[in-house]
Amino acid sequence: MIRTVAQYLESLNDGRQMWCMGEKVKDVRTHPTLSGIIRSAALDYVLPHRPEYRDIFVTRDEDGEEVNFLLTAPKSSADLLRRRECFATAMRSGGGVLLHCMGADALAAFTVTANIMDKKLGTNYSERVENYRRLLMKQDLGITGAITDVKGDRGLHPSQQKQHQDYYLRVVDKQKDGIVVRGAKVHISASPCANELLCSPCRTHGEADKDYALAFAVPCSTPGVKMLAVEPVSRTYDDEGRFDYPKTSRMQPTECLIVFDDVFVPWERVFMCGEWQFSRTLAYAFGSYHRLFGTCKMIGKLEAMTGAAALVAEYNGVEHADHVRKKLAWMAMITHMVAELGKAACLDPVKEFGHDVVMPNAMSINAAKFTFASNFHQMCQHMQDIAGGLCTTVPAYRDWQNPEIRPYIEKYLSAKDGVPTEDRLKVMRLIKDMTGNYWQIDTIHGEGSMAAQQMHLYGSADWNRLKAAAKRSAHIDGWQSDPVYGNLSSADDIPMPPADESYASIPRALK
Ligand SMILES: Cc1cc2nc3c(=O)[nH]c(=O)nc-3n(C[C@H](O)[C@H](O)[C@H](O)COP(=O)(O)OP(=O)(O)OC[C@H]3O[C@@H](n4cnc5c(N)ncnc54)[C@H](O)[C@@H]3O)c2cc1C
Repeated sequence: MIRTVAQYLESLNDGRQMWCMGEKVKDVRTHPTLSGIIRSAALDYVLPHRPEYRDIFVTRDEDGEEVNFLLTAPKSSADLLRRRECFATAMRSGGGVLLHCMGADALAAFTVTANIMDKKLGTNYSERVENYRRLLMKQDLGITGAITDVKGDRGLHPSQQKQHQDYYLRVVDKQKDGIVVRGAKVHISASPCANELLCSPCRTHGEADKDYALAFAVPCSTPGVKMLAVEPVSRTYDDEGRFDYPKTSRMQPTECLIVFDDVFVPWERVFMCGEWQFSRTLAYAFGSYHRLFGTCKMIGKLEAMTGAAALVAEYNGVEHADHVRKKLAWMAMITHMVAELGKAACLDPVKEFGHDVVMPNAMSINAAKFTFASNFHQMCQHMQDIAGGLCTTVPAYRDWQNPEIRPYIEKYLSAKDGVPTEDRLKVMRLIKDMTGNYWQIDTIHGEGSMAAQQMHLYGSADWNRLKAAAKRSAHIDGWQSDPVYGNLSSADDIPMPPADESYASIPRALK
């Protein structure tokens, strides 16, 4: 089924327990700031109905019924590229996969891990995951991934924590029909607008922490699930919000602290419970899938940032300055690199699960995420540098609307002839909004902190091949057995006539 926006909105009227800015939220759809998030999320139910996007967003299930493509398990490079296309289209639109990115990535990671666990342990997790997937597809539910635990003391494993044992979500009781879980997840995007929470571990757990090796899914309205929404960046979705916070008023922070206060989960919704040896696979698989989404999120952001820098250079009359062009060229390069690394991760995927599910290439996708996170602040610096100080002292909507002061703003804050002052103010507000705190932190930590990508990159790099390259270059034996470097031709083997030693101009040291 592909739901309509009206059906989606109706589904949020489910009695979920949510707070925002200290107040209990009666209905997320009518809350003054949360409703903005819901509006962005509702794009998830607009794009699949648009004729020009149907081919990428809509597919058919085994019964021939139309379903959202993002809920299917990627089985080929082509599927990963299509997933990427959905993500990028939606992120350029300003939302539109909020309810099918983290959650869809968690679902894909469940599939991979369930396959491996079933093969090694004889469990039936794959059947449960597939049944759950069918439920999601048939009802077209909006899902999100609740992975990050609150973690307490980062230097200690979950069971070693001093103050209490609930810093990581854990199973506290196993019953005939299901399990009871306790703990809290933090920074969980899209939770005010989702129907379902897909929970899984955020790190590798050892045997002593097997109660924390836990994956399951519950509706947001499940008794005991309590959500505390993060404060909004801008207050309104009206003309003031549109002018002052052009980006963030349209894509408000959607994160929640989610408390699981002894929540019952039926067995058919449990996808890992105690299999600590596979917590690493689950956490790594989620990371790889979710960073593919991250690169697509960044395609939209980086294009807007590079474009804003070019636009403000033009509006200020400095577009031909040498240093400005160099900065713009660098920004265009980073934007292109991130997009291409994401594509490369789909073209050369990981297929090693002995099943038909594929995962983005770990090297390329972690390199992509690391590239945007490590260069984001430089992108901001270039934008702020080119824009000048006005990108922070720019008048607000209410100033612009006041007839007493508007003529002065109009006169003195104009720059290049032919560019309306209002357009210059708007691009300054955009840069102020985009270089603000929220985007910076989201870029560094969303989809995992930078150390996580370095860990993946170090773990996934083919060190034998890289060392073979160095050994071959240094003429140290050992490279001959490498499948790539061992088979290469060498110019050393080409028969040449002996060198003519009579050239006095060539010093012997060069030979
Ligand atoms: C806007 C936003 C949206 C997000 N959306 C989601 C979401 O939808 N779902 C979800 O599950 N998560 C989400 N996250 C969470 C994100 O994945 C985490 O923020 C990230 O993994 C870092 O975790 P943390 O915030 O607890 O920071 P910390 O783990 O405290 O990290 C801070 C620093 O400490 C280092 N560090 C931490 N532990 C150790 C250790 N044991 N040894 C060495 N160094 C360590 C880290 O590398 C980092 O440098 C989101 C985050 C943000 C900011």
